[in-house]
Amino acid sequence: MSAGTAGRAATGAPDETRFTRAPAAPAFEDAEMTESRGVAPRKPDLVCPAGSLRALKLAVDAGANAVYMGLKDATNARNFAGLNFDLAQAREGIAYAHARGAQVLMALNTFADAREPARWRHAVDVAAELGADALICADTSVLAYARDHQPQLRLHLSVQASATTYEAIELYRERYGIQRAVLPRVLTLSQVGHVCRHTGAEIEVFGFGSLCVMVEGRCALSSYVTGQSPNTAGVCSPPSAVRWEDGSDGVRARLNEVLIDCYAPDEPRGYPTLCKGRFHVEGVRDYALEEPTSLNTLAVLPQLMEFGIAAIKIEGRQRSPAYVEQVTRVWRAAIDHCAAQPARFTVQPQWVAALGRWSEGQQHTLGAYNRPWR
Ligand code: SF4
Repeated sequence: MSAGTAGRAATGAPDETRFTRAPAAPAFEDAEMTESRGVAPRKPDLVCPAGSLRALKLAVDAGANAVYMGLKDATNARNFAGLNFDLAQAREGIAYAHARGAQVLMALNTFADAREPARWRHAVDVAAELGADALICADTSVLAYARDHQPQLRLHLSVQASATTYEAIELYRERYGIQRAVLPRVLTLSQVGHVCRHTGAEIEVFGFGSLCVMVEGRCALSSYVTGQSPNTAGVCSPPSAVRWEDGSDGVRARLNEVLIDCYAPDEPRGYPTLCKGRFHVEGVRDYALEEPTSLNTLAVLPQLMEFGIAAIKIEGRQRSPAYVEQVTRVWRAAIDHCAAQPARFTVQPQWVAALGRWSEGQQHTLGAYNRPWR
């Protein structure tokens, strides 16, 4: 066991009982009971991205309580070449994590292709056979199959399901027995608290990483331009559609025929993602939908813990193993500090500096958590 692992085991090891699948709880009918649920402070699990076996091991060693991973096909929403796990890698990764007290969550979070739903069902069976601790799913047919055929697997509702209300989450809990829901990154802090107080499901929120503002699972931008989307094929702005062109005014980035951005010769270039393109709107060329910046919720960590958030998720299965290791270390330290002394928690400058190196455009934002105009 590495030093990093030993540190996590001492400070942030997951509660074993939390990962025992329970039968679906009855819906809340009593308002007082509802208000009293989910408000007890708890130390959230740190859930980190594993786009590769190396990233998985680094995340576990750096203090992740759980890692999330996917297979090398369209069943997961990060279906990019060079990422993800074949069966041998998945087996090794799960054994590595379990030997160090960490959990492995399998992302089967795309919507099943009606022409071959068996692929998604097979992936559920594969995850069970591999010994994954939970499935992260969005498609109700996949949830139903897992509920009926692999009842020992915990079910986590993917952000791709786009469940932003406690009523929606309760429906998934009652019908499919989900134990946890990952909230889309579109809610304010008070809305997150409201959901936590009114559902019996565990709530997981994004703590750090790229933003996907279009209510996850409902964005059709990539599909409109390329015919592929994260919702079905597991890819947003797929590399096969990316074109770089040298022009007199700089380097142009296109997705198929659509011009996404034009960079000056010495300007840093981002990956051409439709929502992060610069477009002319009413005579002004700017980021019309979203600026390239990373979500960073360190500043609201005490409030999230007060809500009783079960887990904080780090985005970035498509990022490098070095990103995974460094971001995991920062968040491990932050969660441990906050759990030890929530009233005296302050964001440490070294954390901000470390995360800044891995942020899109070297910028942070609280995203929808902070909407001062509301
Ligand atoms: S285009 Fe942007 S908002 Fe839409 S799925 Fe892709 S990353 Fe998310």
